[in-house]
Amino acid sequence: MRIARFNDDRIGVIVDGRVLDVTDQIAAQLAAPPYQASHSLPSLPRLLITYFAAVRPMLEQLVAELGPDAGLPLEDVRLLAPLADPTKIVAAPVNYRDHQSEMNEASHVSSLGFFLKSPSSILDPGGTVRLPYTDRRFDHEAEFALIVGRRASHVTPEEALGYVFGYTGLMDITMRGGEDRSTRKSFDTFTPLGPWIVTPDELGSPEDVDLELSVNGELRQKANTRDLIWSAARFLAYASTVTVLEPGDVVTTGTPAGVAPIEDGDRVELTVEGIGHLYVDVTAEGSVPCPTGGAGRGPVPPPAPGDSK
Ligand code: MN
Repeated sequence: MRIARFNDDRIGVIVDGRVLDVTDQIAAQLAAPPYQASHSLPSLPRLLITYFAAVRPMLEQLVAELGPDAGLPLEDVRLLAPLADPTKIVAAPVNYRDHQSEMNEASHVSSLGFFLKSPSSILDPGGTVRLPYTDRRFDHEAEFALIVGRRASHVTPEEALGYVFGYTGLMDITMRGGEDRSTRKSFDTFTPLGPWIVTPDELGSPEDVDLELSVNGELRQKANTRDLIWSAARFLAYASTVTVLEPGDVVTTGTPAGVAPIEDGDRVELTVEGIGHLYVDVTAEGSVPCPTGGAGRGPVPPPAPGDSK
């Protein structure tokens, strides 16, 4: 099943290029005990993720009853990030060997662990990445991301995929330099997410998924998740030994080689096999000189395409 968020915070199931609005039916089912969480107020998408096993039969019946002409054509809706309020975004640093080489990094995920991106950096599909500074380099990173479906703590790699609600595309937009990763990757708009979530039964194995990223139509990154140093399952399992993973948490697996700068006016497009296309635009409007001094420090990124040095 493909689950999207769209227009005015509606939840939809994608069927044959159309979006079926199932918000009211989900809300009605989850309004009654025992589903409503009592100690917090997660968003409806997070509640849906938490109780998906109970809601799914109702959704499948709805889709079957509504038929092929129901809903809205995808091109007539405004997609939103599939969820906006994960408790955290857990991200892998240096998890493809070709990216390790291009960054001249001695270490990879097995010695670096994970870093966190601010959940408020999430950006909707079709949104605009805002570059904050005039004097720093900002790169695209194409990534394959997992959405956690069940609370996971100290799970094994063998168990890990059983805790996954689904998969989606993610761009880990990054300022290069010596500041902490959590700073360099947490600027508002620096986590484009989507275009929707695909459940595991529909995607198949997460260990053989192609991803491609282009800038203004020019291919920059092309990889397959089989080349991850730590597989999605191993990385999720590891993260769960550090911090409990909650339903809706985003776990992103790292970027392959080909990272390069993005600039004002660029359009960046990520395609993930079995999931779909996610594009965003880039603006430098309102950018100011950087107040921190990390330029020229930290891992050394590859030269920009077309750079003669
Ligand atoms: Mn990354």
